[in-house]
Amino acid sequence: MAQQGEKLLACIHCGLCLEACPTYVITGDENDGPRGRLYLMRAVAEGRLENTSDAFRTHIDRCLGCRACEQVCPAGVEYGQLLEASREELSRAQPKSDFTDKVLRFVLKHVWLSRTRLRLFFGSARVFRDLGLPRFLLKTGLARLFSQRAHFALALLENSRTIFHTSGKSVPSASQTDGQSPPVLLFAGCVGGGLFARVNRATERVLFANGFKVSAPEDQVCCGALHAHAGDLDGARELARKNIAAFKSGEPIVTNAGGCGAMLASYGHLLANDASVAEAAAQFSSRVRDVSQQLQTVEAEAAPLNKKARSVPDTTNGRCVTYDTSCHLLYGQHAGDASQQMLSAVVGPNFVPLEGSERCCGAAGIYNMLQPEMSGRVLQEKLDHVRETKAQILATGNPGCQMQIGAGAQLAGIKLQVCHPIELIDEAYAQAGVYGDGE
Ligand code: SF4
Ligand code: SF4
Repeated sequence: MAQQGEKLLACIHCGLCLEACPTYVITGDENDGPRGRLYLMRAVAEGRLENTSDAFRTHIDRCLGCRACEQVCPAGVEYGQLLEASREELSRAQPKSDFTDKVLRFVLKHVWLSRTRLRLFFGSARVFRDLGLPRFLLKTGLARLFSQRAHFALALLENSRTIFHTSGKSVPSASQTDGQSPPVLLFAGCVGGGLFARVNRATERVLFANGFKVSAPEDQVCCGALHAHAGDLDGARELARKNIAAFKSGEPIVTNAGGCGAMLASYGHLLANDASVAEAAAQFSSRVRDVSQQLQTVEAEAAPLNKKARSVPDTTNGRCVTYDTSCHLLYGQHAGDASQQMLSAVVGPNFVPLEGSERCCGAAGIYNMLQPEMSGRVLQEKLDHVRETKAQILATGNPGCQMQIGAGAQLAGIKLQVCHPIELIDEAYAQAGVYGDGE
């Protein structure tokens, strides 16, 4: 925490960040805003406040980590990094003892750091989901017999399902590309690979159709975002080192998950003090891009995405589509615009903008499980705006946001299907026969 002192001093207390902060807007409490949290961090760093105090824990825990405050800060305060350091400080000083937190720490340590156990974990979740058990429990109302948290968790899992038919299509192999195709490496992600494999397949197909040779390194692991959010920076570093080794070949690293992308892009900072890997970590981070950013690189040269998009029929069958920007895609990767542009290439006049699209949806990693009350209030604002759009489809570039908004809409009785923007492109390409066999 002492190392963070200089960064904390960058805040000039102007308060311009307050209205951008979802938790401050909800509670009106200065300590639930970025400036107040920075005061608390500074008080701890200067020894005026115990790092075990209730005030420090409560207000740091309540932060979504959305980084909307960074975007509007004229002093360039690196809030996200300061927050991560505070969470590490908290978890070292006084690990929480409630049941949910104990389970979380156990799972992050003993499941997430082991590829075999993680596969088993997601394999079981998939079987449970694909047998229709969450749907059954939710539809019959039996889910209400569980705790509110478990009820919502079932809705999250249910909303990791696909809404498109293209998900069963095969993915072209790298050998089908010609020697000229620029190679890219796909970062699959743990939740992405476990529950959203169809989004990864759609990403591969669309990249392939736009002339890229895609491969996914076998030894890749989770990005470490969940560990970093939970204050386990050592766990995050362990995963980061493995990914740096897995992706050592030097090509662009493409992700379709805003949360993972922002984490991968921060490896340079995460490992800056480890001389053995600091340079490789910084290089790794500089190669990370969202799929929409990668597609923009070919658009600039030959516009194949737009050319194909212009030739495709209406993917949405007349249904209105809206778009919610993942905070980490927007503030962590600065790719919110690229993603929306990619989407509008195939949605056209059926697109309806979502007010507050840049605001967090309340998912924030596993914040929705750890802070269900505040997460629910943040989500409510999002759902109110979704209702106003009258959209039937919402696209968003992060699996956590997909599940959160889908679950919220389902439980609130809003008829909404949620997907990733790349799934809409993929579906449009399939309908237009871009993959060669039409639909
Ligand atoms: S990260 Fe988000 S919730 Fe946290 S202080 Fe910044 S704006 Fe507020
Ligand atoms: S906008 Fe930046 S400088 Fe101003 S109070 Fe917020 S964090 Fe501090």
